[in-house]
Amino acid sequence: MFQISTIKKTIVHIRTWTKFTILIILATFLMIGAISYIYKPIYRVSLNGEWIGYSENKSKLQQRINEYIEKGNGENIAFVEINSLPEYQLCFLKKDVPTNDEEIFNKIVQQGQTYYNYYAICIGQEEKAYVSNFEQAEEVVNELKAKDSNNKDQLSVVEKYETELKDFATVEKCVADLYEKKVVVQKSYTIAATGVNTSTKKIPLGISLIRPVSGTVTSRFGARWGRSHKGLDIGAPKGTPIKAAAAGTVTLAQYGYGGGYGNHVIISHGNGIQTLYGHCTSLNVKVGQQVAQGQVIATVGNTGDSTGNHLHLEIRINGVAQNPQNYLY
Ligand SMILES: [Zn+2]
Repeated sequence: MFQISTIKKTIVHIRTWTKFTILIILATFLMIGAISYIYKPIYRVSLNGEWIGYSENKSKLQQRINEYIEKGNGENIAFVEINSLPEYQLCFLKKDVPTNDEEIFNKIVQQGQTYYNYYAICIGQEEKAYVSNFEQAEEVVNELKAKDSNNKDQLSVVEKYETELKDFATVEKCVADLYEKKVVVQKSYTIAATGVNTSTKKIPLGISLIRPVSGTVTSRFGARWGRSHKGLDIGAPKGTPIKAAAAGTVTLAQYGYGGGYGNHVIISHGNGIQTLYGHCTSLNVKVGQQVAQGQVIATVGNTGDSTGNHLHLEIRINGVAQNPQNYLY
């Protein structure tokens, strides 16, 4: 009897507890129900520690950002660099709290940097035209070579990754703009020099000059082919460094046919004295640049009206070409 009453007591005890537990569970569900009726899980988004909004759908937003980083939002985009990624913090907020995923996306994207990919067609080191893709660049170069353009040996294509887009030209326009007629017969130079000082009298320059290159004089100053040769030609292998004869300011650094001079540099030394270096392969200086005596300014080449690798050196006083051999070589 004693045992049975103990069991009965225990059963009653368990029943009481079960009822209580069920009650608690029910109450919990009710509470969760009530909470979820009023509140919802929202991601609080911050960028660089600054709150920028609430996101309804974190994974969708993050996916959109990732896609933007990969592909950008337009043509010729190489990639997008985003300075910092957003941070998400889960919180429960009232259902009527507005979310602004679109605004968050825009804010994140705005602090990014877009890099564009396109191609520059260069003559020598100078970028002359821009095209959207490599096939077009190749076409321009091939067409200029087929047309035997004078600059065909200086053409190159450079792949660009820049934060700004350029105006792209069509293949036709590039070819038309860059084509340089080949001049076979030596024609009159169109140059700034107004005259030639054929007298052998040496005018003092007030500065001492050094030899820009060492080599053999292949053509002297003065009469040549029934007209005057305004400089001195010094034969040297292609690529030989050309040094500034004296310190001065670069007043011209021109690529192309250059009025017969090809790629050429003019340095002003003050007091109306200028030196000109013609037919170069590459130019190492820019207009406005100060150069020291002996500084390498270009390399020997065969550009412009030239029939072999050599330096055409001119010395001008107030625009009048002087015989360089009065001073050098
Ligand atoms: Zn010459």
